[in-house]
Amino acid sequence: MTKKKRIYIAYTGGTIGMKPSKEGFVPVAGYLSQTIADMPEFFHDDMPDFEIFEYDPLIDSANVSPKIWQTLALDIQARYHDFDGFIILHGTDTMSYTASALSFVFENLSKPVIITGSQIPLSQLRTDARINLLNALYIAAYHPINEVSLFFNNQLFRGNRSSKQDADGFDAFVSPNYPALLEAGIQIKNIAGSKQALLNTRLNVSEIREQSVVILPLFPGIDWNILEMLLESPLQALVLLTYGVGNAQQDDKLLNILKSATERGVLIVNCSQCLKGKVNMGGYATGNSLLEAGVISGLDMTIETVITKLYYLLSQDLPISVVAELLTTNLRGELS
Ligand code: ASP
Repeated sequence: MTKKKRIYIAYTGGTIGMKPSKEGFVPVAGYLSQTIADMPEFFHDDMPDFEIFEYDPLIDSANVSPKIWQTLALDIQARYHDFDGFIILHGTDTMSYTASALSFVFENLSKPVIITGSQIPLSQLRTDARINLLNALYIAAYHPINEVSLFFNNQLFRGNRSSKQDADGFDAFVSPNYPALLEAGIQIKNIAGSKQALLNTRLNVSEIREQSVVILPLFPGIDWNILEMLLESPLQALVLLTYGVGNAQQDDKLLNILKSATERGVLIVNCSQCLKGKVNMGGYATGNSLLEAGVISGLDMTIETVITKLYYLLSQDLPISVVAELLTTNLRGELS
């Protein structure tokens, strides 16, 4: 008989392991582990062995931070040789931020790291946690994709391509600009799963720290003085959410404000307010002037990816020109 695969489960908090209370659902230490221990399907002969480690404190993922991403990465690195795969149980609210951040922090992954969670706690009757966690464990053991991915509602997405799109529905995540890696139906179907088998590579874990980065959506009638004040603060990067393929108002005041900021070394990244598609500043005159003001294209990266990639790159103490160059370079499959 072949040896069973061993999967490490890091439980950070989130709805999946929460318990009902008078104030609503709350994370309670030990509750998730006990709930799983009482569910025989997790111990079926065809399931891999697993070990659960609960973080302390368990958090609502709204409270996640780069410090927690670093802790998670170091935790997985420390256990890397003891397990065949890794699952992170996480709240859905910031799950895509964590998936994107970890995709940059880990380099040369030769084992799967799958993030999952649920909209209804595992202990509740109509839970989606059971199916998400059972499949994540099964996929980590028998259909491993050696990158940071996110499993939800029968789809495995590339982590840094995913985004939360639905606050209530079970189909909470999308991957707007990249197909799912796997789909769990009657069979587990490989859609765009990585082909490369990175064997015998040494896992590298980089630093990630918070940086002074801000997101600003454009809208008709926006007061440019507010943008000017923002850019006069000690800011390293501004993610400007523009219209369509990357268009902004054609306004001299806007362009002057942006140009003087980029000349001072502030990175300004152009991302679209549209969920799907790619920024192309050459498409219209309204986008082209942004290019001339020194604005960098966010291409088809998600907002979560642009923010965490900026955190990651700015944490490496690189010259700003190199950060700008790497921002538009494909590092972990995050852009097309
Ligand atoms: N607020 C919760 C969290 O993100 C929601 C969830 O788990 O789905 O931790």
